Amino acid sequence: MMNQNRLKIYNGKLITPYKTIEQGTLLVENGKIVGLEEGNAEFPDAHEIDAQGNYIAPGFIDLHIHGGGGHDFMDNTVEAFLGIAEIHARYGTTAMCPTTLTSEKEDLMETLRIYEQADKLNNKGAQFIGMHLEGPYFALSQRGAQDPRYIRDPDPAEYKEILAATSIVKRWSAAPELKGAIEFGRYLKSKGILPAIAHTDAIYEEVLEAFENGYTLATHFYSGMSGVTRRDCFRFAGVIESGYLIDEMDVEIIADGVHLPAPLLKLIYKIKGASRTALITDAMRGAGMPPGESILGSRKNGLPVIIEDGVAKLPDRTSFAGSVATADRLLRNMVNMAGVSLEEAVRMMTKTPARIMGLDERKGALTVGKDADVVVFDQQICIQYTIVNGKVVYSS
Ligand SMILES: [Zn+2]
Repeated sequence: MMNQNRLKIYNGKLITPYKTIEQGTLLVENGKIVGLEEGNAEFPDAHEIDAQGNYIAPGFIDLHIHGGGGHDFMDNTVEAFLGIAEIHARYGTTAMCPTTLTSEKEDLMETLRIYEQADKLNNKGAQFIGMHLEGPYFALSQRGAQDPRYIRDPDPAEYKEILAATSIVKRWSAAPELKGAIEFGRYLKSKGILPAIAHTDAIYEEVLEAFENGYTLATHFYSGMSGVTRRDCFRFAGVIESGYLIDEMDVEIIADGVHLPAPLLKLIYKIKGASRTALITDAMRGAGMPPGESILGSRKNGLPVIIEDGVAKLPDRTSFAGSVATADRLLRNMVNMAGVSLEEAVRMMTKTPARIMGLDERKGALTVGKDADVVVFDQQICIQYTIVNGKVVYSS
């Protein structure tokens, strides 16, 4: 008799991503990986998937995502949360950090409440692994598409109140040069939350101090951050140079092929490598939808944007306003545009983001004991199956 708690995926190339088993079988029981075998292993009574010679890899982990399938997390509905989790699961994502934009505090508090409700009902999509707050403590000069009305310096009374009300926030992006930002970073670390550098005009000395105080990740590297700047006749290294210079600094990149051209993807990979670089979609509601008009942020008070050329833009086309990427596209770009090996590209979408979030004991690799978050994809990195905690949530 078939046991629904046992799953066997056979006849595939297993990318663990420590190594590749050319023809292997992955065994899953009760939502955990219990075996990796060469050839076709015996696993009686299991539900079986024939991978047909395709790749079997760890599920993709997206640390920075706002929406998809016509929904934004800040729509503040359970339906939006579940819809985003499901649409991105079709493209291989098995875990994600729902991400907010700068907003009124009341709207943000509501988003956090909806997260907790949606999380309990989320059994057909990518898992939620903690909220990412993007803002509102940013440099106005680097706001990009963030609404300037809400941007301000870190306010201890405000962030302490938010964090007292919830335990689901796992990362928070801020500009480290702002007044109170170092204290803010220390406070986040004391709560087990990862501070990240974003929408910032910091110079090297400020980035280094921030790094020493917990800001060990650069949010969407190159977007909304300073490069080399001059103050009078003197030149200063910006956040980008600092991200390269500080070896232990992690970076996340929007590898949609639009935000960063091929030479920059190659440069980042060359200097930071696969173990310090995480691929993110930073997708807005237009991901998985046809081009045309859309809204960045909540339906209630978001900004109108236009989706064309595979990206969201402000209507005057002066700035990108988020991506419409899906995880499979990020992988294809790293392989096809940046010339990265498939194994290394997979690592940047699995092992590395898991480690950045402190989840690498449980996720990000196909090894015995890990959560059975698995994707099966073909030569073109088109997703055939997505499996979350041992359960098939998508098959093509
Ligand atoms: Zn974002």
